[in-house]
Amino acid sequence: MPSSNNNSNNEHIKIGLEIHCQLTALKSKLFCPCSSDYRGKEPNSNVCPICMGLPGTLPLLNKKAVEYAIMIALALNCSIPERLVFYRKNYFYPDLPKNFQITQYNSYEQASVGSNGYLELDDGDAKRIIRIRRVQLEEDPGRLVYESISIDRANYTLVDYNRAGVALVEIVTEPDFNSPGEVRVFLNKLASILEHLGVCNTELEGAVRCDANVSFADNAKVEIKNINSFKEVERAIVFEITRQKSLLARGIKVTSETRHWDDVRRITIQSRAKEEEQDYRYFPEQDIPAVHIADKIDAIKEGLPELPDEKVSRFVREYSLPEYTARILVNNMYLAGFFEECVKHYSNAREIANWIISDLKGYIDRDKDNIVLTRVTPKHIAELVMLIDSNKISRSMAKQIMHIMVASGDMPSSIVKNMCIDGITSKDELREIVKRVIIEEQKAVKDAMINEKAFNYLLGKVMRYAKGRAEPTLVLELLKDMITNNK
Ligand code: ZN
Ligand code: MN
Repeated sequence: MPSSNNNSNNEHIKIGLEIHCQLTALKSKLFCPCSSDYRGKEPNSNVCPICMGLPGTLPLLNKKAVEYAIMIALALNCSIPERLVFYRKNYFYPDLPKNFQITQYNSYEQASVGSNGYLELDDGDAKRIIRIRRVQLEEDPGRLVYESISIDRANYTLVDYNRAGVALVEIVTEPDFNSPGEVRVFLNKLASILEHLGVCNTELEGAVRCDANVSFADNAKVEIKNINSFKEVERAIVFEITRQKSLLARGIKVTSETRHWDDVRRITIQSRAKEEEQDYRYFPEQDIPAVHIADKIDAIKEGLPELPDEKVSRFVREYSLPEYTARILVNNMYLAGFFEECVKHYSNAREIANWIISDLKGYIDRDKDNIVLTRVTPKHIAELVMLIDSNKISRSMAKQIMHIMVASGDMPSSIVKNMCIDGITSKDELREIVKRVIIEEQKAVKDAMINEKAFNYLLGKVMRYAKGRAEPTLVLELLKDMITNNK
């Protein structure tokens, strides 16, 4: 494992994460046949005696969940034990019908599904190593619904057990982060890994949750709970750093405590005192025999899909893309696949990649209704780049064609044909047309002198006379030039 490098001068901030990801790709819960898809269901309808923890029931371990957890542990470069043992973590809380959670524990010479792993951050030039303390498989508790805008003002709380027993993988890092920005880079990479593994859809509400502990130098550690999406984590940590800094600046000691992230008011608020580890009275779960996995690890390793880092290296090697470009593509698994499809149709990979990560991605990012990719296929982009390469269209025309393509789904070649811009009108010819329009459209010319928008009307008229065989930017240039000089 590469050595950890903590040479940051970010005021000695230390941040560690505890992340919970649901294995949303599973059909059923971790120990019973109830559906793992609890979202949007009538409260307390997706339950059975096992996940409700009724006396006399026995848990039955979901085989696929074990496989998925091993995949995550492998992707995070963890050591994996020969056998898995489950533990009971005892605590009394309304979201936990059994009063204990079936989880894993790294002690008594037993290890959870993964331990002592690491993930490399690619934050610009500096590569940083974040150590992974452990990866464990456990069950999700039920869901508490506070009937108020926030936890500290709730008049009453409702409990929904539909989620109880859903398979979770808990990932705990060492406190190796020195800034909220590093946390963001890490979580983006983790989300991408989970997406590539196909085990967790991080976009689903509540599918990934995060707790963060934050401390300055040797001051007390504060734990922030209940951060319900990866996007909120950075915000919560920034808030907590500011809060602790202002306490320290006023000479007030930071006390070790658990705070709750209120994502409505975007602040952390004090919550229940944290249990000490011994309070949980961990003991082995006698109802689940040890699971021997030693003989399965190699096959699972073999079957792992290509992970983001491998894909980036391959894109650099196979398509001669700059690493930066490859990373932007790989960060969006769909775009990466889209890119590879384009290259099958036309081989100028670099140019294709550039059009995807600049122009097309811009349209996709603004596309709230998810229609862009129903209209633009890899064939469209391949053809667009081919038209540029064969000098049939200029780059600025390609941008206009892209615009029309996104709106209509028409192929670039047919857009070119309709615009008749493959035979370009000469500048002299164009100047004659512009002159004619200026003479014909005196009123619009006057308007254009005071209102920029009026130029569009004139532009349209010129384009009509030119039968589209002109580059709009050039026409606009000529119009402005002639109108200003003749006034
Ligand atoms: Zn159940
Ligand atoms: Mn946990």
